[in-house]
Amino acid sequence: MNAFPLILSAPSGGGKTTIARALLARRHDLGYSVSCTTRAPRPGEVQGRDYYFMTRAEFIAEREKRAFAESAEVHGNLYGTRRSEVKRVLASGKHVVMDIDVQGAVQFIRVFPDTVTIFILPPSAEVLLERLKARKTETPAQLAARLQSALQELQEVDSYEYVIVNDDLERAVTSVESIIDAEVLSRNRVKNLREQVGLLIQRLEQEIESQTTP
Ligand code: ADP
Ligand code: 5GP
Repeated sequence: MNAFPLILSAPSGGGKTTIARALLARRHDLGYSVSCTTRAPRPGEVQGRDYYFMTRAEFIAEREKRAFAESAEVHGNLYGTRRSEVKRVLASGKHVVMDIDVQGAVQFIRVFPDTVTIFILPPSAEVLLERLKARKTETPAQLAARLQSALQELQEVDSYEYVIVNDDLERAVTSVESIIDAEVLSRNRVKNLREQVGLLIQRLEQEIESQTTP
């Protein structure tokens, strides 16, 4: 199989983490790229599973060593994707799912041009606000910063290949699965296509030749 990276982006509260978790739970052909961040862990988040949590100095040192395929400052914290993390998952033959912001997505595609990009939209602004507030993971100031970033993120929807409205979770997850399944069959991703078709043509030409030769 020709494994590829898959980026899920959305305004904060759009549902990318929830969708990524559901995908990873139900498909064995996917792996997750654990990002690095200087943000503090939320209750229940685990070092090395949800993120590699690190200090700003540690992050900057890695960035200077060019360890990141992309990095960005989001809501006042630094986030980055290690090249080694992406390569580890791809080398295992799995598509690598990434939850990264719009600035990071642009940089990442330059390094891995075969990346599939999906933008997750909330069904409405009201639903987005409700979900964000119900998650209860941000202080009022953090929530305000996330809404401000959401405005910028939404402007970038045009640079994504696919858009999914996360109304019903099951439907949204199934839609991402359909995209993955279709991308696997995309002509550009089929390995040795020329050779496969060449062999078919060769065999058919032999057959035609034998039928026309008396
Ligand atoms: P993001 O990672 O994009 O910031 P989350 O995945 O954390 O967003 O989702 C924000 C909140 O909305 C979470 O509490 C999550 O459980 C909830 N949520 C996500 N998708 C749906 C959905 N389709 N229906 C109802 N609640 C949802
Ligand atoms: P959160 O703090 O809610 O987990 O994530 C906040 C934002 O950071 C989200 O928009 C998420 O997509 C983005 N993000 C998470 N990991 C990365 C990463 O590795 N790189 C970039 N550029 N953004 C990330």
